[in-house]
Amino acid sequence: MTNPYPKLLSPLDLGFTTLKNRVVMGSMHTGLEDRARDTGRLAAYFAERARGGVGLIITGGYAPNRTGWLLPFAAEMLSSGDARRHRRITAAVHDEGGKILLQVLHAGRYAYHPLSASASALKAPINPFRPRALSSRGVEETIDDFVRCALLAQEAGYDGVEIMGSEGYLLNQFLAPATNRRTDRWGGSARNRRRLPVEIVRRTREAVGADFIVDYRISLADYVENGQSWDEILRLATEVEEAGATLLNSGFGWHEARVPTIVTSVPSGAFVDISSAVAEQVQIPVVASNRINMPEAAEQILADTHVQLISMARPMLSDPDWVNKAAADRAAEINTCIACNQACLDHAFVHKKVSCLLNPRAGHETRLVLAPTRVTRTVAVVGAGPAGLATAVSAAERGHRVTLFDANEHIGGQFDMARRIPGKEEFNETIRYFTTMLAKYDVDVRLGVRVGAEELTGFDEVVLATGVTPRMPAIPGIEHPMVLSYPEAIYGVREVGKRVAVIGAGGIGFDVSELLTTDESPTLNLKEWKAEWGAADPPEARGALTAPLPAPPAREVFLLQRTKGPQGRRLGKTTGWVHRASLKAKGVQQLSEVNYERIDDDGLHISFGEKRQRPRVLAVDNVVICAGQESVRELEDALRSRGVRPHVIGGAAIAAELDAKRAIKQGTELAAQL
Ligand code: FAD
Ligand code: NAP
Ligand code: SF4
Repeated sequence: MTNPYPKLLSPLDLGFTTLKNRVVMGSMHTGLEDRARDTGRLAAYFAERARGGVGLIITGGYAPNRTGWLLPFAAEMLSSGDARRHRRITAAVHDEGGKILLQVLHAGRYAYHPLSASASALKAPINPFRPRALSSRGVEETIDDFVRCALLAQEAGYDGVEIMGSEGYLLNQFLAPATNRRTDRWGGSARNRRRLPVEIVRRTREAVGADFIVDYRISLADYVENGQSWDEILRLATEVEEAGATLLNSGFGWHEARVPTIVTSVPSGAFVDISSAVAEQVQIPVVASNRINMPEAAEQILADTHVQLISMARPMLSDPDWVNKAAADRAAEINTCIACNQACLDHAFVHKKVSCLLNPRAGHETRLVLAPTRVTRTVAVVGAGPAGLATAVSAAERGHRVTLFDANEHIGGQFDMARRIPGKEEFNETIRYFTTMLAKYDVDVRLGVRVGAEELTGFDEVVLATGVTPRMPAIPGIEHPMVLSYPEAIYGVREVGKRVAVIGAGGIGFDVSELLTTDESPTLNLKEWKAEWGAADPPEARGALTAPLPAPPAREVFLLQRTKGPQGRRLGKTTGWVHRASLKAKGVQQLSEVNYERIDDDGLHISFGEKRQRPRVLAVDNVVICAGQESVRELEDALRSRGVRPHVIGGAAIAAELDAKRAIKQGTELAAQL
């Protein structure tokens, strides 16, 4: 068979060692790093990715000293005892033919504890703890700690280390004038500001010898005021290379930055040109990263630019077999990361164990096992939304004979609407993945069939994944022709006018507002996306920031909720701010504490608060209802009365706070037990 991705799958000779392909699994904190008791789980998690063919794996961040902990008692590599424990991880990866680096991460002022330290005593806007400024001696000790950490990584059997110099952590804090106000040899001039990272690389190389990978993660665009200039970044890249780095990995945006860099609305490969520009200036390989998730795109980047490796972090969570599938020319089977952050970064930020919305086995490899079944059963799954799709594919993969019914002519359920929202186009990949896997595992898919209980008798197992239906609240005038349900608005069943009120400011209310304020061709190209967020090309401005110039909204939208206070508080931890900022830029008028009095030819009549104050009419052309959903489970009683005991999952089980994460997790867990 010819190699479908000749560049991506070609080895890279680093002189003293060879990477078997150009795919790097970028660093991600999983929550399994922090406690010794989770080492076995972490080893299984990495081993599965190594088995899946990844050329180089990078662990989550380990602090080189306690000041650098991300959280109290977070992951650290401080002693030979720690190193011994890590041998289980490195052995598991090496047994599968993989290579692995330990990431050394000092959190600096992002440390969520009172011991934190930084270049200067400046509090980060996203952290309540004010760091102390490291003394000159403290800086020297920090260098020693990085070096010791690298030596311990070597003792533990790692193939190298990644020194974390981006995302606004300690080394980045020394590099940027915004956070480094020092006047000693570690601050002031650009040369002094870069002295700490360069010294760390130099002394690490001296200590570990020539045959050990030293990868430096460099911030190529800080996206903060008074961040680094382009000249400073290029100079840093050159000096880090001279100091002995083997690789330069790319980082974009500090955690406090207000330019999104990883969410699904960021255009694919948005930052590749920046990495390529640096790659032209150095001899060592540069790794591209962020918003790359499929082999074709990765291959194209390697063909068109100067980067030599592609880092993907979340795509390896959603599909550990990514590289093997690419190599076997089965890219359509890749469970493509949709950059939703819902089970990975959103979990990490609230200190929950990381997993994946699409692959609930991620991080749970030892617990959620889809073993081949010993007894083949016939399984009827009603509903081809995320819950039903996950059940059907996983049950069929285990060897059961599965029939999947859906009343619609297409699969996806509510998810089919999600993929039509501007910025969520990548959700299409999930539909493509499930379509491919249903065919691969020979699931009998019957679309356009609203099944009743009578068709479901005779199966060994019946799964009700019948999902949800939109709630239509009892507002006087709700039957007025100007009122649309959210499916009607999303599918364009009826034309929507230029002034619209959206009732309900949950995830769907936000998404529908985004849709209504966006022009016909929703996909932003890179230029428009940069303008919307004020992302400059790094050579244009220090910190890579400029004034945002969002496109004018396609409609005037009012987004309403009954609850008091700001809207969107329940949106994702790491994505909610993007949705809120996006609607603000589109001029969406957000009203809270609203009473819906009635709907008539004049529009939507509202008042505010318990006392029904400030009555007003929103003279809108349409009202779109996004007021939550109710479970669809009428089949359950009919089945029970026939002696069938169905499994009820997803939205059919509980509609409140339903999302695709819960639906897919329940479907997969059920399939593992059938
Ligand atoms: P559903 O998706 O409702 O699927 C149920 C299926 O059952 C339907 O296809 C229906 O036709 C079928 N069915 C019902 N009764 C029968 C019957 N008798 N016979 C045959 N078929 C039947 N979630 C996220 O996690 N992240 C997001 O970013 C996100 N964005 C969203 C954006 C929008 C605009 C919308 C509408 C939803 C979004 N969601 C998101 C929510 C997510 O899509 C739902 O939580 C998820 O689809 C629920 O899955 P489910 O399988 O339980 O039910
Ligand atoms: P939701 O988040 O529960 O929001 C429903 C909204 O409707 C609430 O804002 C509620 O606000 C309002 N509401 C409820 N009952 C009402 C009534 N009787 N009359 C008027 N208003 C009423 O649900 P959703 O927006 O429908 O989203 C469904 C699920 O999809 C969510 O749980 C979410 O997790 C998921 N989703 C996620 C994303 C994402 O980006 N992660 C995007 C879309 C959807 P008040 O009570 O304040 O009026
Ligand atoms: Fe990707 Fe979402 Fe899975 Fe995270 S949870 S790995 S962003 S699909």
